Amino acid sequence: PPRVFSGVQPTGNLHLGNYLGAIRKFVGLQHEMESLFCIVDLHAVTVWQDPKALKAQTREIAAAYLAAGIDPDVATVFHQSAVPEHAELAWLFQCVARMGWLNRMTQFKDKAGKDKERASVGLFTYPTLMAADILAYKATHVPVGEDQKQHLELARDVAGKFNLDFGAEGFFPLPEPLIRGAGARVMSLRDGTKKMSKSDPSDLSRITLTDDADAIAKKIKKAKSDPDPLPSAEDGLEGRAEARNLVGIYAALSGMSEAEVLTRFGGQGFAALKPALADLAVEKLAPISSEMRRLMDDPGHIDAVLKAGAEKASSIAGPILRETKEIVGFLT
Ligand code: ATP
Ligand code: MG
Repeated sequence: PPRVFSGVQPTGNLHLGNYLGAIRKFVGLQHEMESLFCIVDLHAVTVWQDPKALKAQTREIAAAYLAAGIDPDVATVFHQSAVPEHAELAWLFQCVARMGWLNRMTQFKDKAGKDKERASVGLFTYPTLMAADILAYKATHVPVGEDQKQHLELARDVAGKFNLDFGAEGFFPLPEPLIRGAGARVMSLRDGTKKMSKSDPSDLSRITLTDDADAIAKKIKKAKSDPDPLPSAEDGLEGRAEARNLVGIYAALSGMSEAEVLTRFGGQGFAALKPALADLAVEKLAPISSEMRRLMDDPGHIDAVLKAGAEKASSIAGPILRETKEIVGFLT
């Protein structure tokens, strides 16, 4: 049966890209397929996290999920470290995946930077844990932003190799990425060639879900642009990374196509698009941020939701892990 799994890291600075590329899609999917939405704290600690902040950040993602419209009575909402099967299966997958596969992962290269010797081992093996997150539930569909496409392909390779190595054809499904649609790749407001990220050192590079109206307006006003007027729908946005990003965000937030946005703003400068975009972003994000603030005032409620979610998640992953161990040849 189809099953959805996805996750967001509790690394702070939850932003518009996370919302448009991931969380907003979760909301619709929960009614189409059985869904698990995880706060992937084991992934977060591949880069050092302040322990106190990590707890707050974990609750913040939970609050964002609920505020955006994920219903914990419909979807399973939980944090990864509460379900030990993730880490257990990740170990087995580290023994299935090949060094060569992981060596090709661009996220590791980006995040490790120049000095790879000083990156954590966990940052390198991150994609095997992500494969385990998905396959511990035999999830078939994974809604993610465009940046996670390569990791999803690795998860498919891991599933296929496991099935082959152990003569267990069809045991793990090959999970399908759900990346389509507006907002799958929101770029930095400071550099239209880099994705918007929680870990970008510049606060001006992203709109966060906790920014107030003034902060949103300021960041969009300061967003990098170019001196030319916006093109017509026919001319298109080729070669204009920053214009494409702002038009893309407008389209994703409004539900219009890029062509429709260009029909409205083509021929005008960024001075016309930016204030309209700021108003639109505030209109769409303000209800979510105020609901997030309300939820975060009651950490006890959030913790209870996560605990119930973890129990539900364990009840699915437990039997799958037991069967996996049997297949591998462990005494069970
Ligand atoms: P970090 O910099 O810590 O990796 P992040 O911004 O990449 O943070 P993640 O928690 O790694 O956020 O990703 C959560 C989800 O958000 C994933 O599905 C990812 O593909 C999606 N996502 C992240 N950044 C963007 C973006 N700029 N545009 C669209 N989707 C994004
Ligand atoms: Mg990321």
